[in-house]
Amino acid sequence: MFEVRCRACLRVEEWSGAERHVRVEGGGRRPAEAPALAAWRTLVDAQEHGHTVVGACPACAQPLTTDAPGATAAAYAFDLPKADVRFDGRAFASASGPLTADEARRRVQAALPPPPPFDVGRLLFTSWAAGLGTVGFVLWIAGATFVVFFLVRGAQTGALWGQRGTGVYEKDMPQD
Ligand SMILES: [Zn+2]
Repeated sequence: MFEVRCRACLRVEEWSGAERHVRVEGGGRRPAEAPALAAWRTLVDAQEHGHTVVGACPACAQPLTTDAPGATAAAYAFDLPKADVRFDGRAFASASGPLTADEARRRVQAALPPPPPFDVGRLLFTSWAAGLGTVGFVLWIAGATFVVFFLVRGAQTGALWGQRGTGVYEKDMPQD
């Protein structure tokens, strides 16, 4: 019986012969970098520490490793259909022979999907929203200015409160 771990999602299984007992489900955690690159890093780390790669994590597809002596090494396939790179259980390899870790990383990086393109839609939306905000602000200032002038003028002439002696109101009143 030995313990098998996924360092990406922290899944822990206990393997005993053909039996697999899941001790920690894991699966919720995802690598911060591209999954294939994270897998490459885990494989290099396993090589350096003498850990055995025993397969792919059922929860997140990253490599499962164990530090138990005598565990059977298993191949690990990157999720990169077009890249000629894999891990044969002990070392990186291509269809034509073994690869160094650096060469494997170069191939993984070259096969990674490109980063998302510049988002024109988002830029347009942001400009539109900012423009709308500016127009709203200008209208508000104009409205506020108009009201202030209206009140000041009304106070000066008395037109607002119908004071006698000003405006056209008086002319229409019957004279005696
Ligand atoms: Zn995992």
